Amino acid sequence: MNEYNKPLPAEDPDSAVYWEGCRQKKLMLQHCSSCSKPRYPANNFCPHCRDKNFTWKESLGKGRLYSWIVVRHPVPKEIYAEDVPYIVALIDLEEGVRIASNIVGCEPESITPDMTLQVIFKPVTEQVTLPLFEPTH
Ligand SMILES: [Zn+2]
Repeated sequence: MNEYNKPLPAEDPDSAVYWEGCRQKKLMLQHCSSCSKPRYPANNFCPHCRDKNFTWKESLGKGRLYSWIVVRHPVPKEIYAEDVPYIVALIDLEEGVRIASNIVGCEPESITPDMTLQVIFKPVTEQVTLPLFEPTH
């Protein structure tokens, strides 16, 4: 698999700048050159106006919790047994896009709807740094 021993996201030509940003501890978002709206995940056209031109801008990395689940049953057990319980969340970034990630740095019981979150970066291999979120204090 890889040295992290867990499935990891695969970089492609559309997302290469995004993953390079993560390695540099920057959360990069595409912004449409026509309608200015941010988009996520990285794509080769705007889902709002279908324009193909865009610029990359660094996100503030701040957002609010939209929804979450607490994973307590590891599937497959061989890969995730040591990680449970862990939190899978949908986070609405201030820029206006929704991102799926994990919340770390707090107990599952302390998660509340609409709580404010901040991105952090966790290097897991030489190639992949994961953007994760933790509660703001
Ligand atoms: Zn657009």
